[in-house]
Amino acid sequence: MSDRIKAEFPAPDPSGPVPVRAPAVHRNRTALIKGRFMMAAVSSVALCALMGLLYLFGLMPAAVASSGAVLIMGSVLLFYLVFRSRFNEKARDPSMTLPMTTAAVLCVLYVMLGSSAARDTFVSFFGLILLFAVFRFSTRTLLLQSGLMLLGYAGVIFAAWRAGVPGADHAPDIARWLTLAIALPLFALIGGEIMAGRRTAMQRLRASEERFRRLTALSSDWYWEQDQDLRFTTLSPGLETKAGIAPWRLIGKTLPEITTAPFHADWHVHQEASAARLPFAHVEFQASDDSGALRWLSLSGEPLFDADQRFLGYYGTGRDITARKAVEARIHFQAHHDALTGLANRMLLIDRLEHAMAQADSDGHALWVLFVDLDRFKRINDSLGHKAGDAVLKSVAQRMQAQLRPADTIARLGGDEFVLVLPDWPAGSLSLGLVQRMMDAVRAPYAANGNAILISCSVGIAVYPGDASTAELLVERADVAMYRAKEAGRNSAHFYKAEMNALAMNRLRMESDLRSALQTNEFVLHYQPQMDLDSGRIVGVEALLRWQHMRPGLRQPAEFIGVAEEIGLIVPIGDWVLNQACLQAVAWQRAGLPPMHMAVNLSARQFAQPGLVAAVSAALERSGLQPSLLEIEITESMMMTDVEQAVATLADLKRLGVRVAVDDFGTGHSSLYYLKRFPIDVLKIDRSFVRDIVSDADDAAIVAAIISLAHSLDMTVVAEGVEHADQLIYLARCGCDTMQGYMISPPMRAEALDPLLVDAPAEAGVRGRLRA
Ligand code: C2E
Ligand code: CA
Ligand code: CA
Repeated sequence: MSDRIKAEFPAPDPSGPVPVRAPAVHRNRTALIKGRFMMAAVSSVALCALMGLLYLFGLMPAAVASSGAVLIMGSVLLFYLVFRSRFNEKARDPSMTLPMTTAAVLCVLYVMLGSSAARDTFVSFFGLILLFAVFRFSTRTLLLQSGLMLLGYAGVIFAAWRAGVPGADHAPDIARWLTLAIALPLFALIGGEIMAGRRTAMQRLRASEERFRRLTALSSDWYWEQDQDLRFTTLSPGLETKAGIAPWRLIGKTLPEITTAPFHADWHVHQEASAARLPFAHVEFQASDDSGALRWLSLSGEPLFDADQRFLGYYGTGRDITARKAVEARIHFQAHHDALTGLANRMLLIDRLEHAMAQADSDGHALWVLFVDLDRFKRINDSLGHKAGDAVLKSVAQRMQAQLRPADTIARLGGDEFVLVLPDWPAGSLSLGLVQRMMDAVRAPYAANGNAILISCSVGIAVYPGDASTAELLVERADVAMYRAKEAGRNSAHFYKAEMNALAMNRLRMESDLRSALQTNEFVLHYQPQMDLDSGRIVGVEALLRWQHMRPGLRQPAEFIGVAEEIGLIVPIGDWVLNQACLQAVAWQRAGLPPMHMAVNLSARQFAQPGLVAAVSAALERSGLQPSLLEIEITESMMMTDVEQAVATLADLKRLGVRVAVDDFGTGHSSLYYLKRFPIDVLKIDRSFVRDIVSDADDAAIVAAIISLAHSLDMTVVAEGVEHADQLIYLARCGCDTMQGYMISPPMRAEALDPLLVDAPAEAGVRGRLRA
């Protein structure tokens, strides 16, 4: 088998180290033809020598011997010339066995004609000549030749008898002829059968070789053989066509000598199998191909033994599995990584975390799990689109990754949540500095759609082994700590403490309670009056939301507005507030009270909502409230987040005819330039300035400045949180228009407020009394 495979080797590259071998088949054929001619020539010479001897002993006349020799050598010369001229190559049988044997038979017959002694001797030559032909001809040709010979011999006997050759005894001649007549056809039949059998065997062998060749060419496998030392001795050309590795590169080498990364799981199994001389299957390993690229190959093999059960080596098939390995690797990656950022996903995170925990256990070090959540990331998605949001997430991932140490793991759990696993190790121990660096990296501006975006993150930290004993629980605890960081004003890191659990549970409960609060009518509005300082009349009220919750009683907005905002519930709640406030304003008018402004607070989310203007207009229409009596309160930060959008929204609101007030003025950042651009009617000075105007000169100066600024821009000023007469007096002196605060009334239910609104003092207001 081995020789057959070797014959399939393509001629190796002449520049390669393996010498080029001439095509074997062609060389064999010429040698065969030459050999056959030499055989004919030598037997002819032997025949001539025999004739010479017969002549010397007086058994053959000189004329017969010499003319016979000339005839024999002449025919040899003739065939020599034919071979030289290569004339024979065009013949169906280039070895010209038939013409050569025929010529030999004729020559022998001629010599036999001339001498009875020669007839005796030469009969055996017929057999010789026939023997020469046996391995070439079919039964039919051999029978034909035998017939020719018997006919010729009969002719010779007849001619000798007729010519009356002296000393001729015909009885032995006839006996010889009869012997030959029986032997020759038998000989021809047997020889022909042998030849036919040989020919079919050859044909079958050739066909099976061809089938094997076609099979290996078609399949994705190649064939190989190894010797006792497990060195490759044979490799079929498929190795080159399918794996790009020239077979000669591996010939004489063992598997460990050609693999680049042998420490694969299968490897030991294979080594054990080959040491025990057992079959092995699908042993996978990597080897570099002729271009230097790494390939994955797989081998299956069977041991080979001789008749005495001595181990000869292995043989088997090989296959290039690079493509399959690549697909497997991709699927594995996709199953364990987040598609957007390429970071580990939850599955891989838990796996790595468990690993890190085991490592921490064994070397007694701590492990930090950081839960990182971007602050107000939803706003970026909502205002700049998901594409920009995705780009920011990718940058965040890269920046965090750049801060991490090699042993750290970073995963994305979806949305804007990331989890980091930071093991403590001597060369880089854990510190808040590391966390701070990571947060700072996240905080640097991002470019998206030509805008510079600022984003911060809140971080919760759970410590192993202190905070939890399982990977899932560690991540959960870090999540709880992260919420604590959010509640504490975002952009900060908090460690997990057990009591945080209770807070997290509360928050979860609140979320679900809030979702049902609208349906179950648990919200109520309280109203706080605003008094005009000149006239002393109530000129407006601010609607303030309360949640009449079953269990803990009345809840203030500070407790739940933030949660409602985060889960998006603020939009329907805000809608309800708007409608309810408008209806109440109309109800008061219908009850005969003088017209008052109704101030309604908007949340950031509501303000950014595209349906805001439609919602305001619908509330006005439904209630029948005069638009100029509705006052929409927004904060500075709501206007500054997206200035163009804010200008457009405020312009639309103005077109409806409603008033716009800036709430908590002085606590945010707004430039005078923008203040001029926005269509603002009212500035509400924040409570924090009013609180200290009597004791703090700075605050007093700020309030005075705000009032004169507002007046120069044609805006009305409302002072919030006025609790004492001193504050009121100062505000009146500075020219403040309106005040709101506990001094007049805290926010109250509509019914409770009725008497205050009806009994509003008609006489001069504060300023009037001050003047007086
Ligand atoms: P805000 O708009 O600045 O409302 C004024 C807050 O000051 C009210 O708190 C009010 O009770 C309180 N206040 C009024 N006078 C005094 C005073 O003399 N002294 C003191 N110390 N406080 C005074 P409240 O009702 O707890 O509301 C808190 C915040 O919740 C509001 O601040 C507002 O931003 C928000 N809010 C209230 N209702 C709504 C609403 O319907 N929608 C939205 N989006 N936010 C609301
Ligand atoms: Ca307000
Ligand atoms: Ca306010």
